[in-house]
Formats: sequence, C-alpha cells, structure tokens
Amino acid sequence: MRILLVEDERQLSDVLAALLKQQGGYSVDAVYDGVSGEDCALSGIYDAIILDVMLPKKDGMSVLRTLRTEGCSTPVLLLTAKSEVDDKITGLDCGADDYLTKPFVTGELLARLRALTRRKGELTGDELTIGQTILNRRTHELIYAENAVKLGLKEYQLMEILLENQKQILSKDRLIEKIWGYDSEAEYNAIEVYISFLRKKLTAIGSPVQIKASRGIGYYLEDGA
Ligand code: CA
Repeated sequence: MRILLVEDERQLSDVLAALLKQQGGYSVDAVYDGVSGEDCALSGIYDAIILDVMLPKKDGMSVLRTLRTEGCSTPVLLLTAKSEVDDKITGLDCGADDYLTKPFVTGELLARLRALTRRKGELTGDELTIGQTILNRRTHELIYAENAVKLGLKEYQLMEILLENQKQILSKDRLIEKIWGYDSEAEYNAIEVYISFLRKKLTAIGSPVQIKASRGIGYYLEDGA
C-alpha cells in the first residue's frame, strides 16, 4: 500500500513517515505543501492520503475540495490542528473520510489508516480474477486450479495493478510510479525483471494467463484459455 503524506512540519512528517514505513508496512511519499500534495494526489496512485489542514501554498481543505471535484476518490485522513467542531464538519463536507486532531497518539493514526484502507479492500474484495486465475489479496497467492504460488511483494503489486486494469495497456512509467513511487531510482528493466518472474510463476501453476507486451506502450493481461 502506498500512502501520500502532506504535512509541512518537517519533524512531524519525518516521524510519521518512519512510523508508517516501519510499523505500518506502507510505502510513503512525503510532500510539504498543498500544491505538491494536490499534484501527487491527482496521479491516483495512492491507497490513502494523510492531509494536514494548515499548509503553505494551498490549504488542506482547498486541496481536498479540488481532489473530489476532479474525481479523485482516494481515502483522505485529515490532520486538523484545532479541535474545533467547525473544522471537522468543513473537512467531512469537503470529502474527508476521517480526521485526527493534533496532537494525536501515533497508534491511533495507524488504526485510522488501517480502517480507511480496509474499507477500500472490502469494496474491491479479497480476490482479483482473470478467467480461472485468481490473485488472493490477503495471502498474496496466485492460484490456478489446484496450484498456488506465493508472490513476492513487488510481484504481487505488479500483478494487482495488471488485474485491476485488465482493459488497459499499462505503461512502464505508470507501473514504476505505482510500485516504486515518484522519486524512485528504479530502472525500466526492473519492471522487465518482475514481469519475467511473474510469467514464470504463471507458467509454474499452469495458468493460461499471459502478460503481453505491447512494444513501446506497455503491458496487459490476456487469458489464453
Ligand atoms: Ca501544518
């Protein structure tokens, strides 16, 4: 799961990012102002966004309003500095899914975030399928008939994106963004490496699903059954 953290207090941001990575097991991208937050959020690559209200360049409420207007439905957890009821109501009106008032206990942040991302998981179900081939989101297993193989984290993330976007050809840029994040040093051939791992695993379980490459454009799944 990839989280976007929009918080301008560097110290707090650093602490939260470390916590999310180490205790939450999330991938985290941190930005420090509203405009960057909005740009990143609109990419649609995040599973949840932690958004501070008081931000330089553009405040959190305005960012949130823009996201929802633009059709971005990523769950947003709003961080409000004040405990005033008005702020909460405005936030929820603007499309926030939840809010936390500063200062907060870090355990609570993780709990709220789990609830937000779980909600998304519930909506989409535990299994993704193409034909008779199944990807289990809980166990990270790829299953066909009687056969199952466990996927590594990157393999799983890649397979998940391919399954969620079966009607599309996914560019390497988009795959790298989604799996490694913006500021990653991941090379194009990293995608090729993981695609080849996945192909081997599909073959190993006897699945007829193929990962097709459209030259110069990207990858897509085809059920060869
Ligand atoms: Ca702030």
